Order: sequence, then C-alpha cells, then structure tokens
Amino acid sequence: MRILVSNDDGIQSPGLLALAAAAEAFGTVRVAAPDSEQSAMGHAITVDRPLLVHPARVGRAEGIRVNGTPADCVALGLYHGQGADLVLSGINLGSNLGHEIWYSGTVAAARQAALLGVRAAAFSLIGAESGAADFTPSIPYVEKVIRLLVEQPALNLPPEPKGIVWTRQSVRAYQGRVILGQDPYGRTHYWLTAAPLSEPEEGTDRWAAERGLVSVTPLSMDLTDGALWRAAMVDASALGFEAIEGEGG
Ligand code: MN
Repeated sequence: MRILVSNDDGIQSPGLLALAAAAEAFGTVRVAAPDSEQSAMGHAITVDRPLLVHPARVGRAEGIRVNGTPADCVALGLYHGQGADLVLSGINLGSNLGHEIWYSGTVAAARQAALLGVRAAAFSLIGAESGAADFTPSIPYVEKVIRLLVEQPALNLPPEPKGIVWTRQSVRAYQGRVILGQDPYGRTHYWLTAAPLSEPEEGTDRWAAERGLVSVTPLSMDLTDGALWRAAMVDASALGFEAIEGEGG
C-alpha cells in the first residue's frame, strides 16, 4: 500500500513525524507537507503564483515540502509520487471539532485527496496547540483507524483516550467575537475568536471529546441540503425554477 502523509502544521511538526511513523506498518510512506505552518487555511489552493517543491525527509519517510497550502501539498504529493492508495493528514496540533472542520487545513488535505479519488483520513490531537504534545497514548487509536479506514473519517484524539466512538459533526451555533489589541507600534490589531451559544449535542464530535473519547466522524463530500433539495423537487415552480430530477440528497 502506498501512503501519502500530509498536514497543515508544516514539515517540521512532531505530529507529521508521529503519523508517518505510525503509517509505516501499513505500507510505503511518502510525505508532502507545507514548508511553513498553514493552519486554518481551509481548502485554499494557490492559483496566483508558481509553487516550489523541495525534497524533504520526515523520520524514515522521503517526500517533498511545498511553499503552498495543505491542499496544494496533497495535489503535488500525489503528482510527484505517481498517486497513492491512502492519504493521511495530521496529526494536527489541536482539535478539529464541529465548526473547526470548515477552517481546518488538516481536514482539507484529506478532502483534497478524496476529491482526487484517494481514500483519506485526518487526525487531530486535542489540546496539543502548544507543540509539546505527547502522541504516544494516541498512536494505538491512529493505527486502529488506519486499519478500519472507511469513507473519509475525521479523527480527533484526546490527550489520554478512554475509548473510541463514531460521531457526527457538532453544528451548534457560535457567537463570533473580535478582540482588539494594540501592537508595539501602536497599530490596532484584531483576533477572531468564537464562543459557543449552547452545549455540544449528544453523539457529536465535541460531545465525545469532552468525555475523553476518540471521535471518528465520517465526512461526506456532498454539501447539498437534502431536505431542502427534496422540497424543491416537489415544488420548484414556486420559485420560478425548473426542477431537474436526479440522484442526490
Ligand atoms: Mn494545524
């Protein structure tokens, strides 16, 4: 099995090293990662400048570093390695729960692989933002998911896992808060933050994470609102649109 490992924290991240090492037991591992941190880049791709590729080594794995986004790295990693059977992204330094899935470069790397027809999973270690994370307790769960990989799971690992559960994405509402500060030159700067407006829903990724459980969420590529789509098929004329019958929802 040919496995490509990527991330959004960059080629130097200890999480990338841990994931590449864990993947070795399952096949030939190559890496393709950003040469600088690209967290919260989402699924951005670079279209306004050329991308540069340099050889890189992560532990025993060879590969490339790219001056681009996580999605760029996966596209170029699959191109340079003549494809892969599996793409693994992470282990991210920090969670990718609920709304964070939308911003995450880690998840986007896995999604880019899925868009290119390659099975993929994203791994994130909760509370590891500082970079001083201990990946050891998570590795058995990482190995379990690689072994059981189905669809495109997004995996969130508590620091001390107590078990592993299937979850759905938490979609609770947030109050976006912008916090103002001042830099040493007297310029106003801004931090984007978010505060939840409710408790996490039972059975969701956040709910599992709060209980110390490894959260595995299968993600879909189809963003269509199924209920609204079906309603539109019944009464499309109300909006003056034409209904086109087909699979979906
Ligand atoms: Mn990150």
